[in-house]
Amino acid sequence: MALIDNKKNDKPVIDTNNLKLAQSESYNALIKGNNDWVNNRLKDDPDFFKKLSKGQSPQVLWIGCSDSRVPANEVTGTKAGEVFVHRNIANVCVHSDMNMLSVLDYAVNVLKVKHVIVAGHYGCGGVAAAMSNKQFGLIDNWLRHIKDVYRLHSHELDRITDETQRQNRLVELNVSEQVYNLCKTSIIQNAWMERHDLEVHGWVIDLGTGLVKDIKVSSSSPHNLGYVYELDGIEAVAQH
Ligand SMILES: [Zn+2]
Repeated sequence: MALIDNKKNDKPVIDTNNLKLAQSESYNALIKGNNDWVNNRLKDDPDFFKKLSKGQSPQVLWIGCSDSRVPANEVTGTKAGEVFVHRNIANVCVHSDMNMLSVLDYAVNVLKVKHVIVAGHYGCGGVAAAMSNKQFGLIDNWLRHIKDVYRLHSHELDRITDETQRQNRLVELNVSEQVYNLCKTSIIQNAWMERHDLEVHGWVIDLGTGLVKDIKVSSSSPHNLGYVYELDGIEAVAQH
């Protein structure tokens, strides 16, 4: 933002001409970026967009953080059409979130994806905020889900004295709990009753290297969920 001095009242005022110029430059860069992307895709495959417009059959649902540094396609080296994506602050999966559930249901039951990946990342602002006692406004309601993850694992987290290490561990535990949350949904469990080619995974992206770490919480059956979470078939529920 460019500021110029206003001699009359000593208050800085915004130079709107420079502001508008910078704004239109950053906007125009997006249009140019789109044109470059189209040209590059067409260079690789002249029929790329013809095929893309016919429909999608991605094998993967990505549930990641909204952070601008962790775009699903770039991180995984995939192209348009290969990853179905849902993102929110700190990749939280809550069973009352109709947005997430709708994306999950469509991906699992219509697109028949084979992998659902919860992708968190070290240096996550949402996780850092959840670890603090500060108020941030409306978002505090969302971050409370991560505070609950902290409380669940406080015996381990409170022992970590280094704050960055503690935050990194909470990032991992948050991914792990969100994978668990997905596995508890009737969407995932009913799909497991029908087919054996659906896995839920947990990843953490290291922003310093760009590399993904599989945190080894992959699940392909409801057997380790615990008695109250492991659902019976719908017919059995109707009998009661
Ligand atoms: Zn984040």
